[in-house]
Amino acid sequence: MLSISNLQASYGKVEVLHGISLDVPKGKLVTLIGSNGAGKTTTMRAISGMLKPKGGTVTLDGKDITGADSHKIARAGLAHSPEGRRVFASMTVTDNLLLGAFPRFTRARPRGDIKHDLEKALELFPRLKERQTQLAGTLSGGEQQMLAMARAVMLNPEVILLDEPSMGLAPILVEEVFKIISRLKSEGVTMLLVEQFAAAALNVADYGYVLENGTISVHGPAASLKTDPKVIAAYLGGG
Ligand code: ATP
Repeated sequence: MLSISNLQASYGKVEVLHGISLDVPKGKLVTLIGSNGAGKTTTMRAISGMLKPKGGTVTLDGKDITGADSHKIARAGLAHSPEGRRVFASMTVTDNLLLGAFPRFTRARPRGDIKHDLEKALELFPRLKERQTQLAGTLSGGEQQMLAMARAVMLNPEVILLDEPSMGLAPILVEEVFKIISRLKSEGVTMLLVEQFAAAALNVADYGYVLENGTISVHGPAASLKTDPKVIAAYLGGG
């Protein structure tokens, strides 16, 4: 389980996260929604070590990982699929996926069957399967986004942070991404999902948190957030 308590983060002197707390229980899909600039990406970066938190704690299965280096956090079993298309452009799809598994070699627990997991990841992402030998830099934006997600899966992590996996995708691909998220969930993968499509995120999630200006304003089971008039008015396009 991933647990964040009173997390604070700043860029220079500007504090962006003012002490947020959230839990992602094992096997659950938790979503973090909020307006542009609320601090969702900053939260993900502060969890995964890309940004050093100014205060608070982050624990993974009871182990304190607050402010540790990203590679150590990956080794501890936390995968971050970042916003945007962060793939290794001059490497093939398959090599990008294998790199995702690299931290498993330096982990204390058994590394598992990487070849089997590669096949499984390619089954999960048929678009990538068709393009295994293609250089990642020549994939479409949507395909690169999927590759970033598939690479996170290849870590065989305890928790996956998914930052706006649907960003910039055509509607048909957005649907595909949400289907993949549902499938990962049904396989028991623990995930924290940041999404611009709040309604779609609440439909697949077990639990949700609303981030407003760096503070959690509401949280609860996804089903009850979907019917919360304030959430509907602000994030689900209702009035
Ligand atoms: P969006 O949905 O638009 O991606 P977000 O909720 O993910 O928004 P963040 O990207 O976390 O928001 O940004 C939170 C605030 O921090 C914003 O005001 C943003 O301008 C600021 N910010 C983000 N990255 C930096 C940075 N590298 N340096 C300075 N300020 C930053």
